[in-house]
Amino acid sequence: MTTHKDRLSAFPVFLRVEDRDVVIVGGGAEAFAKARLLAQSSARLVLVSGRFDADYAAWAAIEGARLIEQAFSPTVLEGAALVFAATGDEAADRAVVEAARALHIPVNAVDRPELCDFFTPALVNRAPVAVAIGTEGAGPVLAQMIRAHVERLLPPSLGALARLAETYRGAVERLLPKGDARRGFWRDFFDGAPARGIAAGDTVAARAAADRMLERKAAARAGHVALVGAGPGAEDLITLRAQRLLMAADVIIHDALVPEAVVALGRRDATRIAAGKRKGCHSRTQDEINRLLVSLARQGKRVVRLKAGDPLVFGRAGEELAALREAGVSHEVVPGVTAALAAAADFALPLTLRGVSSSLVFTTGHDLGGDTLPDWARLAIDGATVAVYMGRSVAAGVAGKLIAAGLSPDTAVAVVENASLPTRRLLHGTLADLPSLEARAELAGPVMTIIGDAVAGADFAHSIPLAARAPALPEPVPTGDAR
Ligand code: SAH
Repeated sequence: MTTHKDRLSAFPVFLRVEDRDVVIVGGGAEAFAKARLLAQSSARLVLVSGRFDADYAAWAAIEGARLIEQAFSPTVLEGAALVFAATGDEAADRAVVEAARALHIPVNAVDRPELCDFFTPALVNRAPVAVAIGTEGAGPVLAQMIRAHVERLLPPSLGALARLAETYRGAVERLLPKGDARRGFWRDFFDGAPARGIAAGDTVAARAAADRMLERKAAARAGHVALVGAGPGAEDLITLRAQRLLMAADVIIHDALVPEAVVALGRRDATRIAAGKRKGCHSRTQDEINRLLVSLARQGKRVVRLKAGDPLVFGRAGEELAALREAGVSHEVVPGVTAALAAAADFALPLTLRGVSSSLVFTTGHDLGGDTLPDWARLAIDGATVAVYMGRSVAAGVAGKLIAAGLSPDTAVAVVENASLPTRRLLHGTLADLPSLEARAELAGPVMTIIGDAVAGADFAHSIPLAARAPALPEPVPTGDAR
């Protein structure tokens, strides 16, 4: 809070006077001084006096000011933006002041602060930059001293630099996001190579420097979204590229399936947003995520959209990519190790096997509605290996459809929960056993199911049977071996 005595009784403003009349009444030194000051603006000067000093009249002619050589009459003030009473005679000044006030035109009476509606500042002019110094009429000499200081402080080329800046305003607003990036550009502009170019009188060099700076900053700061595969969960199954992007990201938006240890590979000060998307608890809708990606990029953020496995496999990347494309946001995709590959690796299971299986299907049990045979059932019968994502809760449906389609109930099946992680669990069995998966409530992590004859080539040393007769409930203490 300012105390009352700190308050200005006259508030400084910059008044638009371009192409407007400013009337100065008086023909002597005081009027001449004001006319000179006003001539620094693009106001139209109207000079009124019964008698002009010769040097003043000569100057006015050169300036192109309008001279009205007649005694003051109120009609000369009509339409003026400002009026100056500078006759040197108190009664005459007072008459001008009254006439101006009658017309509601702000008026200044030279050296008579008590008659003034406004004061003229001591002016440092680097048009379009101006520094106006005011003392509310209290100390014109003080104002002039300050002016001398400021004159020394501001390079003569400042005006030209500011004019050049005006020509970059639009481009800067278009290319650089509000905030640090834009401020940084202007700081470098007024302090760096463009300023030096202008100071040296080399506008071409100044422009070239400003262009380069803008291009560099725009490229560096334009927002960018990377759809990054986090891999199946193990921190060391992420790609080097994904890791590099994570370390450069301002914002990391991750799915619930991505473990904390992987998210933690990002910069400590990056903003982390959990996008949810765990089955059954969608904390954000896909639309919300799409909008968030676009808006963060438009703020100039480097965004990593971190998805489990590979972003292009059951990751709804298609919708996010479409939103980014439509918004014209720069983006890229970084592949990751998809769950099927991690699960196969855990089982040392050849997904393709010479003479047995030569194609691989990535599918989900989730679109198994109705009685129609899924389009991949045919492939399975022809020997394809089938990797079922999000398949735990629909295991019976998948098995039933495949058996109904003619696939042998004895076809080998491998199931991996938490593939690649220390907490992984491996189960094996046949297609006939698969429905039992639905009852295994202890499988709380993500589950991958792989079906096909190639599965028979896996290593079952670390897996337990999936068989329906091996129930999920704890078995009664040792009466025998279920196997
Ligand atoms: N884009 C992911 C898949 C997302 S859909 C990828 O490429 O892997 C989610 C499903 O992926 C889960 O229901 C599960 O079937 C599978 N999944 C993801 N991570 C897994 C893991 N570590 N182990 C087993 N299955 C996993």
